[in-house]
Amino acid sequence: MSGMEPDPQQLLDGSANRQESEFETALRPRSLAEFIGQPKVIDNLGVFIAAALKRGEPLDHILFSGMPGLGKTTLANLIARELGSGMHATSGPALERPGDLVSLLTNLGRGDVLFIDEIHRMPRVVEEYLYSAMEDWHIDIVLDQGPAARSVRVSLQQFTLIGATTREGLLSAPFRARFGVLERLDPYPVDELRKIVLRSSRLLGTDVDAPAVELVASRARGTPRIANRILRRVRDVAQVKGDGKVTRAICETGLHMLGIDALGLTELDRRILRCLKDQGGGPIGLKTIAVAVGEEEDTIEESYEPHLIREGFVQKTPRGRKLTEKGAQVL
Ligand code: ADP
Repeated sequence: MSGMEPDPQQLLDGSANRQESEFETALRPRSLAEFIGQPKVIDNLGVFIAAALKRGEPLDHILFSGMPGLGKTTLANLIARELGSGMHATSGPALERPGDLVSLLTNLGRGDVLFIDEIHRMPRVVEEYLYSAMEDWHIDIVLDQGPAARSVRVSLQQFTLIGATTREGLLSAPFRARFGVLERLDPYPVDELRKIVLRSSRLLGTDVDAPAVELVASRARGTPRIANRILRRVRDVAQVKGDGKVTRAICETGLHMLGIDALGLTELDRRILRCLKDQGGGPIGLKTIAVAVGEEEDTIEESYEPHLIREGFVQKTPRGRKLTEKGAQVL
């Protein structure tokens, strides 16, 4: 697919196709010092990493939470790099059976980082296997079945587990308690997004003028991934419809093609708001909204709703979602 066929849905999606992943990898900061924003998190991590290196011990297990695209995977990679450790990455849904986890764990070297993305989607049986691995560096594997069943203890190298989740609330209390460090990533203010857009445009070798930088940063819903994806699309527009330079006018055209309005809302956001309005403003359940707008409940809750709530367009109540007065005005 060329960048001239914008897919607004994909703009907010946590997942990425191959092209998109390569693009993201190219724009990943290469050191903690290069990481823009999240100063408190970066400060904390700096201290923990320095202490672990000084003591010659593995870093405590870390859990990152926050919306898709805020930099959780990036930070996990940077931590491994700063520690000079091996990095092994997987995801919750990929660990279907305990056996999937066992082969990963037994391959870890001392001090290595095991990164599990979407850790809240890991099956409970696999999660329970992780407990002893995280605490005492061993796992008990059950061999054979029935009367011949026996358990064999396998020792592991001391490692650091880094989990990333968009839904911290779904993690069980005993699991959460096994992480020594819990860090929440919040959406980025526009001035930090501006720096991220500038850095990305430099890396891409694209000339983006100041008003265009401002526009991309202000429509990115506080999310570096969305800022980078918008930048990629408007760069295409600039190449096809202009002379390659991203100006404010080019940027406006690109945003329009992507269906992003002045408030950073996409077509699906507007569909969610319209659905609420059609139901008398709510409260209505997430399931009803999902059916009405034709999107997965998880996607709505993880990728769309946080922005609508933060902007004060939607309210989450015990009885369901409600359209606020501000939200009604948008329509
Ligand atoms: P997450 O794992 O939270 O979904 P990622 O770490 O995959 O997010 O980040 C998505 C994209 O955004 C990557 O291309 C990354 O380079 C970029 N990005 C995220 N945070 C920053 C940041 N603080 N500075 C620069 N780029 C960032």
